[in-house]
Amino acid sequence: MQTHYKGFLEQGSNQPMSGLGGIGLKIVVPKESTPGESRVALDPDRVKRLVDAGHEVAVETGAGAGAFFSDEAYVEAGARIVASDGLYNSVQAVLKVQRPTAQELANYPTGTTLIGLLNPQDDLEGVKRLGKGGLTAFALELVPRIARAQKMDALSSMASLAGYKAVLIAAHALGKYFPMLITAAGTIPPAKVLVLGAGVAGLQAIATARRLGAVVSAYDIRPAVKEQVESLGAGFLELKLDERTEDEGGYAKALSDEAQRRGQELVHDHIKGVDVVITTAQVPGRRAPQLITEAMVRDMRPGSVIVDLAAENGGNCALSEAGKVVEAHGVLIHAPLNVPGTLPVHASQLYARNLIALFEHLVQDGNLVLDFEDEITRDCCVTHQGEVISPRVQAALAPAR
Ligand code: NAD
Repeated sequence: MQTHYKGFLEQGSNQPMSGLGGIGLKIVVPKESTPGESRVALDPDRVKRLVDAGHEVAVETGAGAGAFFSDEAYVEAGARIVASDGLYNSVQAVLKVQRPTAQELANYPTGTTLIGLLNPQDDLEGVKRLGKGGLTAFALELVPRIARAQKMDALSSMASLAGYKAVLIAAHALGKYFPMLITAAGTIPPAKVLVLGAGVAGLQAIATARRLGAVVSAYDIRPAVKEQVESLGAGFLELKLDERTEDEGGYAKALSDEAQRRGQELVHDHIKGVDVVITTAQVPGRRAPQLITEAMVRDMRPGSVIVDLAAENGGNCALSEAGKVVEAHGVLIHAPLNVPGTLPVHASQLYARNLIALFEHLVQDGNLVLDFEDEITRDCCVTHQGEVISPRVQAALAPAR
């Protein structure tokens, strides 16, 4: 089933597109309103790409400031800079990083296309608001992890940045060198780093810690990652389990209580001898598995550092407090949120490329073309004409109905 949305008038709006001969969409890039958010949905390069393709792009004043993209750079790329008043007049597509607030949503005309990190599986009230607002909303978190959608995979881009930065946070907090050093005052042994979960963030953390000269080991329940871990020069802690640990799509499955306990035992043995633990374990759609208990923290060396990247989702460490640094039993436990936002230039550039790849998948010859038989379009579309389209969001809503 293909649905074509030709031009703005056919989407039930009150004003025609201006000066484009009907070949492009009118796109708005707002300044992110979430406190502390430094990323922006489009960098000037991606704006230029859209303008060259015939779209009209309005960027809110100062939208790129957090990522050091000036208003002038956007103007040079062909955008108009617009104050917040009237920003959404006759808009057709809003491109965002974070989900919009209820107040922002109220300003979007019915039929507007919204693309962003909308967190639809956790924010079911937000999904209902998108439906009520008549928005055609796409969530980048829902991009399927299939080969042809790789260029749209913003979660992987962001996880990679977070994995890299987690190691720098740890190196900054640790009262030791990472590399081995031979000095006139004697030899300093390298720091020992343990990475829990070797998906996108974990593999980048391993590579970064290795570049800094640490001795690295990693643990993951999916045996398939052993080779990748070892190819980065890290040791792999292997747990032989009788149960399947990944589904048909290659994603981790939740473990039985017994397997979970054995995993914790393995980590407990190893954690006593390391200086840094970076935790990145997750099972899609679930609370993060708890891999580090308080007893394990107590057994770590004083001055050791844990950086828990799964804090937003409950944390991999029992003592993590989302968004905070806590000290427990002499161990510093960092549980940072929005780590990619601390690297706003590259985070915005990569995010913009992922977003535009999805946009270009959805827009043909200046028109939104929705083919819900296409896996990418169907999976990412949260709402369209008041209906929830994504099967994953439908499933998340089912118990609440
Ligand atoms: P991913 O799915 O690619 O990797 C997660 C890995 O955890 C998988 O390899 C999986 O097999 C492994 N795993 C699952 N259960 C496990 C268990 N019990 N023991 C050991 N390993 C287990 O995920 P990702 O994209 O690398 O993201 C990792 C985490 O980082 C997520 O929680 C994500 O939300 C978080 N993240 C945080 C930030 C931040 O700013 N704090 C930013 C980006 C990502």
